[in-house]
Amino acid sequence: MWDTATFAIRNSFIHLMLIFKKVADLRQWLTTQTKPIGFAPTMGALHEGHLELIRMAKRDGCIAVASIFVNPTQFNDIRDLEKYPRTAEKDIELLLTTHCDALFMPAVEEVYPPGLNLTIELDFKQLDKVMEGEFRPGHFKGMATVVNRLLEIVQPDKLYMGQKDFQQLSIVRDMIRQLALPVELVMCPTVREPDGLAMSSRNVRLSPEMRAAAPIIHETLQWAKTALKKNHSAAEIKAEALRRLSNAGLQPEYFELVNGVTLETIQSKDDFLFNENTGNSGSIVACTAVFAGDIRLIDNII
Ligand code: AMP
Repeated sequence: MWDTATFAIRNSFIHLMLIFKKVADLRQWLTTQTKPIGFAPTMGALHEGHLELIRMAKRDGCIAVASIFVNPTQFNDIRDLEKYPRTAEKDIELLLTTHCDALFMPAVEEVYPPGLNLTIELDFKQLDKVMEGEFRPGHFKGMATVVNRLLEIVQPDKLYMGQKDFQQLSIVRDMIRQLALPVELVMCPTVREPDGLAMSSRNVRLSPEMRAAAPIIHETLQWAKTALKKNHSAAEIKAEALRRLSNAGLQPEYFELVNGVTLETIQSKDDFLFNENTGNSGSIVACTAVFAGDIRLIDNII
């Protein structure tokens, strides 16, 4: 096992994190663990948002396992895949600060062995068709496929994912339900920069001008929340939000107010009152995607 697993040691005090590249090695190690396993899948280029998932797993008393895998099947644009930042050494340093126990960094063939079709073909109803689903065709099928495959490999007790990708989380929740997977999904609140911009691996690619404009995204979401509380209609809020984002020099793709479980668009605040018959969750989520120059950013508020 040790030839394919590496120790990473943090200088001042010793913290060991095993790094696995092979499924078999990771599995062998996992079977020797007695505490619950908490798992946070990532695509690397880590920031505080990712690290908080690991810290949460540790706070919950779990053995924390992170993965870094830039999943080719969820990119609909090959240039986006090629441009995706890869910062493995820095990522390892950052993970060590969280006391992460193990990191899985597989090659593509480990995750998708040649000759096997692991594609997830579930019906997510409207969950994967609206918002991101509309603008990034095929993205969620690729995402569900890799999350399912990683769950099969790691077999965690708890899966930690960020609210930042609310639609992704909703689809994973539905996949867990449909496949009756024995894992608890834990949502980690969005970690933000001091000016409110949601942390994202893409933020470093923003031009100074666009970085300065980007906090308007969170401000607009907060404004929408207040406006909804004041009983403004969803249509009014959406129109004004799009106007605010555009006025700040961003190009919004969508701004939607949706039911927190079904992701159906809502018309007014009354739509979210808990209703046993309709299955309304009691939560509304405002979700948006904008282009800041050529960088696409998403954010939401519950
Ligand atoms: P990614 O590497 O972008 O695929 O993200 C991996 C995980 O980190 C996903 O569950 C994301 O929702 C989560 N994540 C990314 N950014 C943030 C953030 N700013 N706050 C909380 N979680 C985040």
